[in-house]
Amino acid sequence: MDYQRFFSEAIDQLHAERRYRVFADLERIAGAFPRAIWRSGQEAREITVWCSNDYLGMGQHAGVIAAMQEAAGRMGSGAGGTRNISGTNHPLVELEAELADLHGKEAALVFTSGFISNEASLSTIGRLLPNCLILSDELNHASMIEGIRRSGAEKKIFRHNDLDHLESLLKAAGRERAKLIAFESVYSMDGDVAPIAEIADLAEKYNAMTYIDEVHAVGMYGPRGGGITERDGLAHRMDIIEGTLAKAFGVIGGYITGSSAIIDAVRSYAPGFIFTTALPPAIASAATASIRHLKSSNAERKAHQGQAQRAKDVLRAAGLPVMPSQTHIVPLLVADPELCKKASDRLLEKHDIYIQPINYPTVPRGTERLRITPTPFHTDELIEGLRDALMETWEALGIAFTEHHEAPAAQSDRVIPLVVSKSGG
Ligand SMILES: *Cc1c(COP(=O)(O)O)cnc(C)c1O
Repeated sequence: MDYQRFFSEAIDQLHAERRYRVFADLERIAGAFPRAIWRSGQEAREITVWCSNDYLGMGQHAGVIAAMQEAAGRMGSGAGGTRNISGTNHPLVELEAELADLHGKEAALVFTSGFISNEASLSTIGRLLPNCLILSDELNHASMIEGIRRSGAEKKIFRHNDLDHLESLLKAAGRERAKLIAFESVYSMDGDVAPIAEIADLAEKYNAMTYIDEVHAVGMYGPRGGGITERDGLAHRMDIIEGTLAKAFGVIGGYITGSSAIIDAVRSYAPGFIFTTALPPAIASAATASIRHLKSSNAERKAHQGQAQRAKDVLRAAGLPVMPSQTHIVPLLVADPELCKKASDRLLEKHDIYIQPINYPTVPRGTERLRITPTPFHTDELIEGLRDALMETWEALGIAFTEHHEAPAAQSDRVIPLVVSKSGG
């Protein structure tokens, strides 16, 4: 076996399929978000990031940074070990209380990432429940798919947001069998939202448990940032709400919330929780500061929604193919993997704009896209600059515009973005 050749060929395969991933070398500038330094060869220059999942810019929030620095200064850089061996640093105890309160649940459990929270929780729950059937939305995130697979439980995939299909699978399994419905609230590639109330109705009717991934909604929806389930008054109808501390909350880590019994079972049985070092106290303190801020402040959510809507309006008016989205996510259809990559490269090299290309397998073939995520810090002026750069790129590469390709209309409902200070929001 020629090992080196084997791995080279595995990479060649990705090149041949136009699926080889290249990561931009970026350095985010705290206090100037969404600006960043991009390095390429000998060159380094400032660019604007349009695809960050730091959706509200909390990663540069002065209070969040201060909490991180203060805790690191007082308690050091690392956690010192797994919680099993080294105990739980107090900031993590506070963070879990904050999260349980955010979702109106009895308890919460923090993991090292959102990926691990899904993987560890779904695999453990599916393994503990006898003869469990897991019903999984076809567009679920890779971390959920991984967890479900590792559970060893039987899995049935229901068509995306298709209640009839879900019901037929529930019905076939019968009321007596253990069943878990796993789905997301906001699907991050299309920006659509699950019919959560209807799924809760079906779960009740057929006696199934519900597990919802609110990764792309926590911090951003609901009066206190509890996600779509908080916004729509549905949190109490979900057995488990999962979220991340890494996107709108701007730090790192993941979590689940639910009843004390479920949380304690995952805490006690999940290898992905037990056998890994806990998040550092500074991370926990920063996350708590971010959650607390967003529980009481609506300014970020309001500006976020306003700028996302504005970006959709401005790009649509220019004839750019904005795909339908019910949320803050602005997907722009390219429908060709090569052109998608070229558009992304051109935006960066010629216009100092960074938008990562989204190709298969992240999205179905033929729906390759640029996924734009405006934040409160993407001003009206930046949105107009983006439109101009996209139009130039679309024309230069011959990418399809929509039918009405006309001059942008004047906007009336202008949203005033948050003021960006050097020390952060
Ligand atoms: C990003 C993401 C995760 C993983 O969260 P991390 O904290 O980044 O590990 C889980 N679910 C969905 C839907 C995601 O998009």
